[in-house]
Amino acid sequence: MNAPPGLSVTVLGCSGTYAGAGGACSGYLLRTATTNLWMDCGAGSLANIQRHVALLELDGIVVSHSHPDHWLELPVLLNALRYGVGAPDLGMPLLWTARTAEQFAAIAAEPEPTFAPQVIDERSTATIGDIDLSFSRTDHPVETLAIRAEHAGHSIVYSADTGDAWRLASLGPDIGRTIDLAIVEATLDEDDADVVQHLTASQAGRQAAEAGVATLVLTHLAPGSDPEARRTDAARAFAGPIEVADIDATFRA
Ligand SMILES: [Zn+2]
Ligand SMILES: [Zn+2]
Repeated sequence: MNAPPGLSVTVLGCSGTYAGAGGACSGYLLRTATTNLWMDCGAGSLANIQRHVALLELDGIVVSHSHPDHWLELPVLLNALRYGVGAPDLGMPLLWTARTAEQFAAIAAEPEPTFAPQVIDERSTATIGDIDLSFSRTDHPVETLAIRAEHAGHSIVYSADTGDAWRLASLGPDIGRTIDLAIVEATLDEDDADVVQHLTASQAGRQAAEAGVATLVLTHLAPGSDPEARRTDAARAFAGPIEVADIDATFRA
């Protein structure tokens, strides 16, 4: 259960839009030796995160956008903290977009004081434990924030959901920073490029090459897609190491 040193990310769920049998929607656990930060809380990720940390060991939560496959565990987590583990006054830091906050309010109880919510946008910066966060608005139908997480010179950038009009480099070379590990969505089959605001694997690979990332992790694959085909498609554009996200896999920056 101990986190490896440096900065790591453990996959809690990586299915795009909905999860197939035994899968889970987007969720990631960012860890340093002393910080556990839950990034996106898609359906199924609440069960999976507890294989890695106890809920009361979480230092905070950050949600990329208001699409349901990225946050719908939050109302369930609220109840778990309030009525399950007896921490109604926890004040857990919760960073989310304005629309995510609105949608949460429509279906759940008051988030305070269990959560300490804070609305973020592309200009925000935040620090949870010893992880520094910054954001970039992606190319997606609702306000969606790609997330840069940094700790002691190690960096992970998560694309969240995006079309190809956003640039991964906007959270790397464009701001004078390198990217050690990029978690980039590869939702679409190559034939569906630019049909909706998501990426194909070859587009994800091109983005990673342009941003000069050290390692690329493909994620948000639709159920039924072939992970090896996605890796091959990405490799046409990106020469570095390529991984495909899988539940419980851990990657180090
Ligand atoms: Zn999604
Ligand atoms: Zn989305």
